[in-house]
Amino acid sequence: TDQAQFDAAVLALQSVPPLSHVTTAPAYVGWDAYLAQGGYALLKDLASGVLDAESCIKTMEDSGLRGLGGAGFPAGRKWRIVREQPSPKLMAVNIDEGEPGTFKDRTYLERDPHRFLEGMLVAAQVVGIDACYVYLRDEYHGCRELLEAELAKLRANPPCALPLIELRRGAGAYICGEESAMIESIEGKRGEPRMRPPYIAQVGLFGRPTLEHNFETLFWVRDILQRGPQWFSSFGRNGRKGLRSFSVSGRVKHPGVKLAPAGITVKELIHEYCGGMAPGHDLYAYLPGGASGGILPASMGDIPLDFDTLQPYGCFIGSAAVIVLGHQDKARDAALNMMRFFAQESCGQCTPCRVGTAKSAALMDAPVWDNTTLEDLNEVMADASICGLGQAAPNPVRCIQKYFPQEIGASL
Ligand code: SF4
Repeated sequence: TDQAQFDAAVLALQSVPPLSHVTTAPAYVGWDAYLAQGGYALLKDLASGVLDAESCIKTMEDSGLRGLGGAGFPAGRKWRIVREQPSPKLMAVNIDEGEPGTFKDRTYLERDPHRFLEGMLVAAQVVGIDACYVYLRDEYHGCRELLEAELAKLRANPPCALPLIELRRGAGAYICGEESAMIESIEGKRGEPRMRPPYIAQVGLFGRPTLEHNFETLFWVRDILQRGPQWFSSFGRNGRKGLRSFSVSGRVKHPGVKLAPAGITVKELIHEYCGGMAPGHDLYAYLPGGASGGILPASMGDIPLDFDTLQPYGCFIGSAAVIVLGHQDKARDAALNMMRFFAQESCGQCTPCRVGTAKSAALMDAPVWDNTTLEDLNEVMADASICGLGQAAPNPVRCIQKYFPQEIGASL
């Protein structure tokens, strides 16, 4: 069965080293197959009182699961904070998946949608959520149809009393992956990030306390609660704990979603999970976290990939979108591409980001970079932007200045 395949894959991860990558593509687990695998038993136990909310929160906290959309806030702690807020409370689920190079949520959603839905409903039950709003990237037409069909089956045969579940379509804006901009968008407004505080756990969607989660964070809830906190934290490598779903693209032989131990290095990931580099390419550079996570040279390919491990190098892992470049690529081209993307996707609400990204993109197009002006812009964007888009926009610029000075004609 698919569950057996999944268990075998997870067991393979525990044996060292897993030389064949874990495939996440095959058989679709629909309503009947999910029920046959014991699906929704956890939710029923919770609703009937066999399982209590406090023990669920404790298990989530002990597992060390952190928000897998990129921010990395501990999931169990988030549940506890929102649970303590006054009702009515809402949930907003982020399936906007707009970070360049990220496609893990779609992969899991297309393969096993009820694992996510049960995770969402368990979180709702534990935290005391009255309504769940699922924000789905508009480009994911197939996912929307699939979710609507599976939700209809769930509503026709509810395992317990269900909260209101609404599916909302995004409209292709990168910034709507930022939690407060997503909430504005769900409310029917322009997707512009909010100033904080107040945090959305207290004043969120429609002014109510809101539990916000990325799709994948909820996808792992059932396994963690049924297998225990040690199951998740027993994985990991190079001193890190947990599992990460890396969306690997670029110059590798087998790109795709790779379920691998947290803390794996990019060299290990390419060698053990991607079949090595694509023919004719040697590892030159890599982006550890999509567009915003910076860019590192191959000589720094032994850094454990996880939350907190890349900050000393001016990078971060975010949603674990690893983009691999070969010697035929230029890191500065990738950085320019990213800055143009940021300039295009800036919501325009604050000047440092709106103007800084556009000016930086223009300066980065010159054969020799004006590093003094670029660094002035970097500082203003990082210090004075309202949200993560503007704050992280300097990351690729600074990485090129620091690690690839030979490409831009001068070093800082
Ligand atoms: Fe909008 Fe950029 Fe300011 Fe964020 S940093 S609020 S995206 S203008």
